[in-house]
Amino acid sequence: MRVRGYAAQSADSELAAWEFERRTPGEKDVVIRIEYCGICHSDIHFARNEWGGTTYPAVPGHEIIGRVVEVGSGVTRYHKDDRVGVGCFVESCRTCGSCQEDLENYCENGVRGTYGGVEDDGVTPTRGGYSSHIVVDEHFVLNIPDALDPAGAAPLLCAGITTYSPLRHVGVSPGDRVAVMGLGGLGHMGVKLAASFGAEVTVLSRSPSKQADAERLGAHDFVLTNEEGAMNALVGRFDIVLDTISAEHDINGPVMSLKRDGTFIMVGASPTPHALAGGPLIMGRRSVMGSLVGGIAETQEMLDHCGKHRIVSDVEMITPDQINEAYERAVQGDVKYRFVIDCTQF
Ligand code: NAP
Ligand code: ZN
Ligand code: ZN
Repeated sequence: MRVRGYAAQSADSELAAWEFERRTPGEKDVVIRIEYCGICHSDIHFARNEWGGTTYPAVPGHEIIGRVVEVGSGVTRYHKDDRVGVGCFVESCRTCGSCQEDLENYCENGVRGTYGGVEDDGVTPTRGGYSSHIVVDEHFVLNIPDALDPAGAAPLLCAGITTYSPLRHVGVSPGDRVAVMGLGGLGHMGVKLAASFGAEVTVLSRSPSKQADAERLGAHDFVLTNEEGAMNALVGRFDIVLDTISAEHDINGPVMSLKRDGTFIMVGASPTPHALAGGPLIMGRRSVMGSLVGGIAETQEMLDHCGKHRIVSDVEMITPDQINEAYERAVQGDVKYRFVIDCTQF
């Protein structure tokens, strides 16, 4: 199946129009005409080979919303014209302990990324949502609640589930003090979701221009982390710190800002490592954990929660020819708060 999209041809080339083949739809496959795709910072790390291992041409995009245009004979959950979503992965082994527990994202045999993975034939790379169509097994297709604006719902498929899952895992409940570090795509969803669970949310940011937005998004407090003494004033304050920052930064101060037994959740995936001292962990029995998106069942639960609470991402719509400019702006932290591509133009 021939489709149109945008690809990076090398780590230092800009993304440009490119046509490629999708696999022939099988019995359990859903063919989706993509309408919207968010730009996640992971797309940028991947297109620029910042984590290593990218093969080219590379088609990023894992915050996908579209309409079903065709279903295989064995598909039971979806029909033509349904509005659906696809997130960060499109296959897993389905038999390992993690898959059995609906945690396909942690598949012990390697989850297949929506991009950067390999198809069943063992050689064809998977390609993401900066494209006109995608072919996905129905198990990895999500139902999008009618109540949600489809463009605003696209970022839920990565930024939404990546912040929802760890906040649920640690059991954030009303009155908990949650700090969200970095007010970008993940960060602004973290604020909305933590607030929807009844938490008292503080944004930790280096951008004064985002203060007013933080409050509008549901935060109770805003701290400029690059101001002298700002972190010292927060020692022992939070139950949870959710770190969404995309680059190397100090994490000892943020860990110190936790109460005794507090948890620091790392979801930001800086290509360079952070230095963490023992002291901040030892003093106060604090914990550090990481989290990778979320399983399919939990992603559907998150979408339904967002449908019920009318939660979507704040988006800036762009056309495919604006993707490179959007990458530059995202790297500068200049996006309010997610770029979403109008994929009907592919
Ligand atoms: P984003 O929209 O670019 O937001 C990142 C934010 O971090 C920026 O808006 C900025 O916030 C802050 N920031 C950026 N550079 C910084 C620096 N050098 N020092 C301090 N703060 C900085 O990115 P995103 O799409 O939310 O993704 C964030 C990270 O999470 C990326 O590394 C991405 O790969 C990763 N990620 C992980 C998962 C997972 O499953 N764990 C899923 C998706 C994405 P302020 O302006 O407020 O300071
Ligand atoms: Zn992502
Ligand atoms: Zn598995």
